[in-house]
Amino acid sequence: MDRNNRLQLAQEKLKSIYGYDSFREGQRTIIEQILNGTDTIGIMPTGGGKSLCYQIPALVLPGVTLVVSPLISLMKDQVDALTELNVPATYLNSTLSASEERQRQNRIEEGYYKLIYVAPERLDQYQFQQLLSRINLSLIAIDEAHCMSQWGHDFRPSYLTIATWLEHLSQNPTILALTATATPEVCKDLQNFLHINERQVISTGFERTNLTFKVKKGINKKKFIDSYITSKKKESGIIYASTRKEVEQIFQHLSESGVSVVAYHGGMNEQERSLSQEAFIHDKVDLIIATNAFGMGIDKSNVRFVIHYNLPRTVEAYYQEAGRAGRDGEPSECVLLFSLQDVRTQAFLIEQSDRNAIRQEMEYKKLQQMTAFCHTERCLQQYILHYFGDDTNKTCGKCSNCVHTGEKVNKTREAQMVFSTVKRTRERFGKTIISQILVGSANQKLKQLQLTDVTTYGLLKTWSQKDVAEFIDILMAEDYLAPMGTTYPTIQLTEKAVQVLMGEQEVFVTETVTTVQREENDD
Ligand code: ADP
Repeated sequence: MDRNNRLQLAQEKLKSIYGYDSFREGQRTIIEQILNGTDTIGIMPTGGGKSLCYQIPALVLPGVTLVVSPLISLMKDQVDALTELNVPATYLNSTLSASEERQRQNRIEEGYYKLIYVAPERLDQYQFQQLLSRINLSLIAIDEAHCMSQWGHDFRPSYLTIATWLEHLSQNPTILALTATATPEVCKDLQNFLHINERQVISTGFERTNLTFKVKKGINKKKFIDSYITSKKKESGIIYASTRKEVEQIFQHLSESGVSVVAYHGGMNEQERSLSQEAFIHDKVDLIIATNAFGMGIDKSNVRFVIHYNLPRTVEAYYQEAGRAGRDGEPSECVLLFSLQDVRTQAFLIEQSDRNAIRQEMEYKKLQQMTAFCHTERCLQQYILHYFGDDTNKTCGKCSNCVHTGEKVNKTREAQMVFSTVKRTRERFGKTIISQILVGSANQKLKQLQLTDVTTYGLLKTWSQKDVAEFIDILMAEDYLAPMGTTYPTIQLTEKAVQVLMGEQEVFVTETVTTVQREENDD
């Protein structure tokens, strides 16, 4: 079949099987490349329609498409959905009985299935390799391909072997790696592993124009949730919390208030989790309170809001979770509730992990970038796009920073005080000490270190230490200061700060620091 015929057939399958009229941006290009036999990396935001990028070629190409996917539950959902569409698909994983597995293997050999889903661990099994050598493999799709890269936020050692495995494969199928969260480093890694050049990378960008991002600081989180849920009236939403305990508490609180809600976390057994998931997906309840165990591969299109009750550890994880809102393209909100305690908790978890020092340092940097998202004055969508390497100037016009009504005020003098404190103490200290010096704290440690003699000591004595610390966070988020080190980072001046110190640049911030009356915080 020639190129044009294949494309036409792809278009026909899109309509006859899925009922869609046209391919989305990116889908067409990726599918064209695959049908031409070109190895491809496809980068699309969550909800962008990655599955079709291999499912349609699977139906057009002559042999079998192997899909490597990290989650067992996800495989089952995808295969069930395909079976419902009368597409012959199956999966092989550890949940199958020996006889079931044998039966599926026989049918694979008979050429019955067009798509086979497996976890990466399966690729190393001798028996499976034998099976593959007896069938005609046309395409290998690697889903959630960022799991291959150590720079990714969700690195999985089992994914690391995929590249070597591919090199030893006796056949030469086309390769498609798909992800929604590839920073430039991750993308480079994938290119190297899979020998894919720049031109073969198709990225539709990461922008989600229907999402409105909001960061809320210094609020009472429980009260916020109460009024938010009331205002949303029966709309579908997800609340992510970082621990099982927190999920249970929010769940308890909301159920007692009569909200239609279920919980989902790793401490529940599989049946309980699946009941919660089903109830939410089929609109039996409005809300799900969940840890990040919930969501990978969940295709619920009408989620109108995602609230993060706690700070996620990385921007990748945040964007992936928040991105579960508005998959249908309708306007939806992503609200992050910030508290300093969450940063400490995440930092503690990194410290306690058994990861090596380099890995910990990297995770710490990612956490700092996530924290900076909460303090930046920039457009929040733009911040995320910059994070993923897209240097756009465009602002979304609707996130909490874009619509902030607070006026921008000139804080150059105060910023200079911070910078000169950092400079005078020779960039040896972190945020806490610098804030203590500026507010003129009586802390004994300052005396011992002779920091009460620094000329800027007490210059911001009308501010609280917390406000100075928050101001430093803003200066860090805006790249005037750079954190160095991991566990107790010290702060250093950047070129931008030097310019401010020399009077060549001014610092404007939105009027929140020291002027907004704080509500009592419950955590
Ligand atoms: P991703 O894996 O990128 O997060 P999915 O493949 O699950 O996204 O697709 C997200 C949603 O978009 C699904 O409901 C899917 O059916 C729908 N979709 C995908 N492609 C198209 C298209 N060309 N036209 C309309 N809807 C589409």
